[in-house]
Amino acid sequence: VIAFLDTQPCCVGAQEIHDQLRGRGEPVGLASVYRVLETLAQQGLVQRLDLGDGVTRFEPARTGEDHHHHLVCDGCGKVESFADARLETVIRDVEQRSGYDVAAHDVLLRGACGACR
Ligand SMILES: [Zn+2]
Ligand SMILES: [Zn+2]
Ligand SMILES: [Zn+2]
Repeated sequence: VIAFLDTQPCCVGAQEIHDQLRGRGEPVGLASVYRVLETLAQQGLVQRLDLGDGVTRFEPARTGEDHHHHLVCDGCGKVESFADARLETVIRDVEQRSGYDVAAHDVLLRGACGACR
């Protein structure tokens, strides 16, 4: 599961992880995939994303170059990623002002994609 997630550019659902692993001939059950993902999430190695469509998605907790956020289309359900250095700067400013030691942050933009709008 970890090796598979590492090769993914963005978040994937447990069912899809399961299907892909099975497709590669890994004899893995869906229940074990969920169990592994829960454990990884608890350890902070994997980030859980709830995009509001009932599918919980997972992606490796990324720092540095691979750190990104998500755009979700309410029309077709498409998920895209984006990164913005200015956004990260603003979030660090907020961290300093608040006095919090911010361990992680999520930014989710939701609406209609270019094709749906
Ligand atoms: Zn992502
Ligand atoms: Zn759309
Ligand atoms: Zn960020």
